[in-house]
Amino acid sequence: MKEKLEKIRQAALEKIAGSDALETLNEIRVAYLGKKGELTSVLKGMKDVSAEERPRVGQMVNETRAVIEAKLEETRAALAKKAREEKLRKEVIDVTLPAKKNNVGHKHPNMIALEEVERIFVGMGYEVVEGPEVEYDYYNFEALNIPKGHPARDEQDTFYINDKIVLRSQTSPVQVRTMEKGKLPIRVIAPGRVFRSDEVDATHSPSFHQIEGLVIDKGITFADLKGTLAEFARELFGEDTKVKFRPHHFPFTEPSAEVDVTCFKCHGEGCRFCKGSGWIEILGCGMVHPNVLRMSGIDPEEYSGFAFGVGLERIALLKYEIDDMRLLYENDIRFLKQF
Ligand SMILES: [Zn+2]
Repeated sequence: MKEKLEKIRQAALEKIAGSDALETLNEIRVAYLGKKGELTSVLKGMKDVSAEERPRVGQMVNETRAVIEAKLEETRAALAKKAREEKLRKEVIDVTLPAKKNNVGHKHPNMIALEEVERIFVGMGYEVVEGPEVEYDYYNFEALNIPKGHPARDEQDTFYINDKIVLRSQTSPVQVRTMEKGKLPIRVIAPGRVFRSDEVDATHSPSFHQIEGLVIDKGITFADLKGTLAEFARELFGEDTKVKFRPHHFPFTEPSAEVDVTCFKCHGEGCRFCKGSGWIEILGCGMVHPNVLRMSGIDPEEYSGFAFGVGLERIALLKYEIDDMRLLYENDIRFLKQF
């Protein structure tokens, strides 16, 4: 019996020593210590051993088992350690590799132009206000002196949610909302996205941006309007820029004017950029119509004011000499990075 156990022990230890994988160790464990393993079959043969011998044989079996188990565990730990070291060696980080480059975005020309315009007006004491892009027909048209059926609606055809709700065609509704609050005097600019049912081409888009301004106080005259816009043009396009006011018609202002600035490329000489005229049209403006004041609950006998509106894209296109508005909406980083 003793020799038999010794043989099993020798064979098991040899196999363990020769194994180089955790799976092999498992197979050895099953083969020797498992339910049908060799050591277990020795225990089953105990019934043939004489009663006085049994304790000694039992002890020998247990010792053999312990030796094999210890060796198995020791080898398992060694193999696991080896595997971990191997893994670490393979996954080593090469700190000399060049880093992944992050693509940094770029400010949109519209945004640069908007920040510039805001800076100029905030510097003159204006507040920046915003309003909803989906607007009541009342705020977009009626409160601005454009009742249903008024021909001016044709020039500003927009997208209708229903009879009473539209996508705003101008940021002027924000002016009405500001006046309705009843806090006077008012000195605000309202930048934002507006909508028109226009086809896309080099100068049109169904969605673009406006910046409108509104001033209401006692004793505001056309001279204040001219002075303000002349200062704005000088700040935006250069110290020697001159402005020209041409009579025009808007339903919500009276009198109304369109404003040209001297071409900042040829300084008024006439060039290809200004089509030879020396002037470039930039915005519309006028004195707020008494009807508009009245509808917003302001007494036109006591208060007066002016309003103006400028296309943000128009400023960006002029300032950066971009000749196609569509470039502003494509968001091609190669284009945007030029500004
Ligand atoms: Zn010019």
